[in-house]
Amino acid sequence: MIKNHMSLLARIFDKRKDESITRPSRVFFVNTLSGNKELFVPQKPGLVLFYSCGPTVYGPAHIGNLRSYVFSDTIARTLIAAGYRVQRVINITDVGHMVGDGDRGEDKMAVGAAREHTTPEEIATRYTKLFIENLDDLNIDTTDIHFPRATEYIKEQIALAKTLEEKGFAYLLADGLYFDTQKFSGYGKLGGLSGVRLEAGKRVEMVKGKRHPADFVLWRNAKPNDLQQWDSPWGRGNPGWHIECSAMIRSLLGQEIDIHSGGEDHIAIHHNNEIAQSEAVSGRTFVHYWMHNAFLTMGSEKISKSLGNFVYLSEVIEKGFHPLSLRYFFLQAHYRTPLSFSWDAIAGASGALNRLWNISREIAEESKRTSAPSEARDRFLAVMRDDLATPQALGILWDSIKSEEYSPEEKWGLLEDAEAHLGLKLTAPPGTGTLREADIPTDIKDMLSLREVARVSKDFKEADRIRGDIERSGYRVDDGPDGPVVTRATL
Ligand code: AMP
Ligand code: ZN
Repeated sequence: MIKNHMSLLARIFDKRKDESITRPSRVFFVNTLSGNKELFVPQKPGLVLFYSCGPTVYGPAHIGNLRSYVFSDTIARTLIAAGYRVQRVINITDVGHMVGDGDRGEDKMAVGAAREHTTPEEIATRYTKLFIENLDDLNIDTTDIHFPRATEYIKEQIALAKTLEEKGFAYLLADGLYFDTQKFSGYGKLGGLSGVRLEAGKRVEMVKGKRHPADFVLWRNAKPNDLQQWDSPWGRGNPGWHIECSAMIRSLLGQEIDIHSGGEDHIAIHHNNEIAQSEAVSGRTFVHYWMHNAFLTMGSEKISKSLGNFVYLSEVIEKGFHPLSLRYFFLQAHYRTPLSFSWDAIAGASGALNRLWNISREIAEESKRTSAPSEARDRFLAVMRDDLATPQALGILWDSIKSEEYSPEEKWGLLEDAEAHLGLKLTAPPGTGTLREADIPTDIKDMLSLREVARVSKDFKEADRIRGDIERSGYRVDDGPDGPVVTRATL
């Protein structure tokens, strides 16, 4: 009897041991819903259902938008490294919604189509392709992300709006169907907005007949020259912006999901409206963890159309910086901290990333790419799992790989984990450095040739003197395994 009992206990213990090997590690996130840092517990053990608001594809995504997707990629990488399976969706908004959060104004897809003398469909295809290319350039693995287009889910958006109408959460006005925010008791709960509900609505132009300023359009009747319009129970028209995310999440991930991310500009209106639509229908918690990134600003200014201060990833690359310099620049700040863009800051990030790549090449050789655990690695994992503290994680990485305290194998182990979380190509640095051949100015190329001549004839003093000249001209030369690597010098 006792023996049986003991063997049962042993079996339970063994099973626990197995589970502890496969059970994901603990990760903490700040949840906008509660305003607190919380232990992350998904609805289904081991699986994370994760949605991020995607771009409106009427032009290229600017680097502020890209901060939002590096942030969501960092969430996904951290969860995957902690042992979770992550199912991801980023929607592509290819239906023309209004410029701004309101229900009135210019239709973005029509603006894009007019600008480029083509159709909204052509504009959507062009800029969806560019968006995915941008993500690829930033080392975001797009093969595991589903990118549904809003125009492919019109039926589902209509069905959801219809259910809301049938359940008494919507009313008809001359120009379309509106959500009645006063019928949904928890309206504005995200970001603690309940008390300032009216204020949130105040910014939105008041439509005649609207029962409350915060009420928003679910389906808009078509105007005669609308380029995009579909049949619906309310006549020809097009869907409101917020219904798109609610309908696609419901169709692709279900009624209850684990994480929803986006920029903090979407908290007040867009995400509160998504919650209202989804929870009014399901009666269940729509999203368990809301996560928002702070804004990227241009110096002290907000990125805005009227100031014309947009920067695109293509410009970063054209200036000779590797696109991952932008990713490194983002990771230097915590995602909940506003970050100010400057070309000097990108040059600094580029210089640091190149030095990191050079050190990594050396460690790869010394360690023969064999890794060993270390206390530095444990500290790295702990700060990443504590609400994605990327600045601290980079600090630990730098201190440890430069320190004599760790063996090459321990350093390589840390680099592998850092790569899994940060996605900076740390274990496979690009061989060409940040500058492509074509981007190196001729006078620098001439100096490089002279330095190579000096090096080959073992005149190292002369080679170093030329290296100094190159640096004073704003460039940096390092000798990689495939020859000299030229980068921009840190400013
Ligand atoms: P949008 O196409 O405007 O919906 O933007 C796509 C994503 O980028 C959303 O999650 C926005 O909240 C986010 N976003 C827009 N501008 C910025 C910015 N300057 N900094 C950080 N995130 C931004
Ligand atoms: Zn959304």
